[in-house]
Amino acid sequence: MSYRPIISNVEEASNNEKDGLYEFIIYLADGTQCRTFYNRYPEWKMTNISRLLKTPCPICRKDFICKCMENFGGVLQQQIIDNEWLEKAIAK
Ligand SMILES: [Zn+2]
Repeated sequence: MSYRPIISNVEEASNNEKDGLYEFIIYLADGTQCRTFYNRYPEWKMTNISRLLKTPCPICRKDFICKCMENFGGVLQQQIIDNEWLEKAIAK
C-alpha cells in the first residue's frame, strides 16, 4: 500500500454531546473527503470511517462505494491525534 493520506482539514458535521457521539468530515490533501464517527468517552475513538462519494477513490479509483479507507483509519487517527484535529474542529 503506497497510498498515504494527508489530512488538510477536519470539520465537525454533527454531534450528540450528551452521549459523546460526533461526526466529522475529513478533508484530505488529494481532494478526497471522508465521513468519520467518533465516540468521545472514555476517550476519543474512531468507530467508523467511509469515503464521501464526491470524488473517485484515490486507492481503487471506483466512484461508488468501497471500503478502502477503512484500511487507513489507523493512519488518519494518528494524524488526528498528532495535529489535534478534533480539538480544533470542535472549537469552531
Ligand atoms: Zn476504494
